[in-house]
Amino acid sequence: MPTPHLRAKAIEDVLDRQVRHVEPPSQKISDFYGENVFNEDAMRKFLTEDAFYAVRQAVHEGVQISRKMADQVASGMKEWAASKGATHYTHWFQPLTGLSAEKHDAFFEPISGGRSIERFDGAQLVQQEPDASSFPSGGIRSTFEARGYTAWDPSSPAFVIGRALCIPTIFISYTGEALDYKMPLLRALHAVDQAATSVCQYFDKEVTKVTPTLGWEQEYFLIDEALYYARPDIMLTGRALFGHAPAKGQQLEDHYFGSIPERVLAFMREFETESLRLGIPVKTRHNEVAPNQFECAPVFEEANLAVDHNVLLMDVMEKVARKHRFRVLLHEKPYAGVNGSGKHNNWSLATNTGRNLLKPMKTPKENLLFLTFFVNTIKAIHAHADILRASIAGAGNDHRLGANEAPPAIISAFIGLHLSHLLDELEKNVSGKMTPDLKTELKLNIGRIPPVLLDNTDRNRTSPFAFTGNKFEFRAVGSSANCANAMTVLNTIVAAQLNAFKQEVDRLIDKGTKKDEAILRVLREYIVVSKPIRFEGNGYSEEWRQEAAKRGLSNIPDTPRALDVWQRKETVELFGATGVLSARELAARHEIELHAYVLKIQIESRTCGDLAQNHIIPTAIAYQNRLIENVRGLREVLGADKAKKAAATPVKLIEEMSEHIERLKTLTDEMIEARKKANNIEDSRSKAVAYCDQVKPFMDQIRYHADKLEMLVDDELWPLPKLRELLFTR
Ligand code: ADP
Ligand code: MG
Repeated sequence: MPTPHLRAKAIEDVLDRQVRHVEPPSQKISDFYGENVFNEDAMRKFLTEDAFYAVRQAVHEGVQISRKMADQVASGMKEWAASKGATHYTHWFQPLTGLSAEKHDAFFEPISGGRSIERFDGAQLVQQEPDASSFPSGGIRSTFEARGYTAWDPSSPAFVIGRALCIPTIFISYTGEALDYKMPLLRALHAVDQAATSVCQYFDKEVTKVTPTLGWEQEYFLIDEALYYARPDIMLTGRALFGHAPAKGQQLEDHYFGSIPERVLAFMREFETESLRLGIPVKTRHNEVAPNQFECAPVFEEANLAVDHNVLLMDVMEKVARKHRFRVLLHEKPYAGVNGSGKHNNWSLATNTGRNLLKPMKTPKENLLFLTFFVNTIKAIHAHADILRASIAGAGNDHRLGANEAPPAIISAFIGLHLSHLLDELEKNVSGKMTPDLKTELKLNIGRIPPVLLDNTDRNRTSPFAFTGNKFEFRAVGSSANCANAMTVLNTIVAAQLNAFKQEVDRLIDKGTKKDEAILRVLREYIVVSKPIRFEGNGYSEEWRQEAAKRGLSNIPDTPRALDVWQRKETVELFGATGVLSARELAARHEIELHAYVLKIQIESRTCGDLAQNHIIPTAIAYQNRLIENVRGLREVLGADKAKKAAATPVKLIEEMSEHIERLKTLTDEMIEARKKANNIEDSRSKAVAYCDQVKPFMDQIRYHADKLEMLVDDELWPLPKLRELLFTR
């Protein structure tokens, strides 16, 4: 029997790897930051004054760009891109599955007489028709309209990657329905801008625009390319479907505090340089809790740009990783038994006057503004926890949420001792008047507490939605997700909440209540109503599960059921009233997400079955045969009587292995049957539930027996790199 040299060879390869050092173009980041972006500097240089102002107006005021201007912009953009070596252009967009999509066209165009020119005009800039049939549309296109198109989004600047000019676009059907992540996000940002601006008017007439900000933190695993190719499950599904937990996991947390390995550091430096060139303000890098797990975070930006930058960063990371012979695992749970990966979304609201609306200020008056946004956000989370839960649902994230890992599937908000105390005080204040006591409270005693302490003392790592001093941190977002989904929902529910708040306060004011008193009274009501969503304790604990149930909070552990909320009447009303998604768009999204779930579990299940049958069972049988030969040999040499004792161990092993082999075979066959049944179901929701309840559990059982065999079979024969090798070889 040939030994599975792939595994041994892979480890040898990893140990032999050279570090690839690429120096940044300059030690000063400002020398190359944004050099591959068609930013204001580039526009000033390459656009006429008229075209430059047309773009600025489009970005800042949403004014449409005329066709004539678009021609001028296109021509300038082309000149700029050519100066960066670009020969092609592409409309870059974010379809509902996959990360980003692009179709490259050359600027080059043949003309008569065998000559050619480089052409790129306004029409090509503004609108394109990708081969839409291959992108998911949840039935919108096939039923209602055959084709979709991409449309230029001037609010996100064009950039050059390699030899291509990439133009950020939205992707919509001919009937105007969103087929991507960006269009609803832009609508949600608009909705929250309008709602928040009008609430700000109570306090400050200078506020005319409110922009949501987003600072994401991207976690990921790295795996060497040789190990990656030796693990078909990781190649095909992004996670290890098999593998016994290593003797050493992350208990020591020595990775978290350790220095970044040299080869990884070289990779980080190169992908950061590429990201910085693209104007992604990456700033921090460090090891994460699990071995071979890392994190990268930028300075926060306006949410639309931050979303694009995250998608772009994931793309850049993958490309640069290949040059370093690594693969990036963005999956939420590549390895059972060690920490999974998330993508914390730090979110706040910023005004055109430069104020962060979620930052507590020094005076009670200013803090009423802070409190208004703070309490309304909590109220929104309480009222729409299920929608927030759905926004982060996915097959990968199911392994994190509620699996005793950050964060739980129960949505709750952590606000810290200090603010809890303040809200409790406000709750007692039935009159809604600013009593001297309350004024002191509203000062938040900030004079006495250094701001740093206020930011950092109250950290609760187990909360899915935590206030961290001057922003909320939505921690339940999965590492592979497009932040747009979570950001669309969060901004939409806050927009709807602020609109309701405005109406209620106005009603009181109309009845003659003083403004501040009206605001305090409504806030007080909200504090009372939304109290159940506030939780300061350990989110992983069993007590919290019970307590949350008592409070009437949902705990939806799996994706197919979490997605049900898309169809609820209240959801349709909410998204309709804010103008973010129509009923049809919601239905389409629901359909697409169910379908994506089914596909993921289906691929995992097939891969699991194949590996069990083609790798694990044959290896176990081969080893068993060796043992059988051994037993036979012992009998031959020692005689049946004496061999009894000597052969006891191999015989026991043979028996144990037989058991596991038999279970593996049976379970695999049963799983295939369950899949067949699920595949015959027409209705998407029922099919997804069948995959979740009937197919998925087999994978855990199969893994159990396979991992037992891994511990029994001679290490030399085992074909798949083991978890300890995946986690610790570098
Ligand atoms: P840490 O969580 O590591 O202590 P910070 O609290 O400074 O670090 O910030 C964490 C993340 O929050 C960073 O990615 C940062 O860009 C982001 N962030 C900070 N302020 C805001 C804000 N006002 N809006 C959105 N994101 C923010
Ligand atoms: Mg964080």
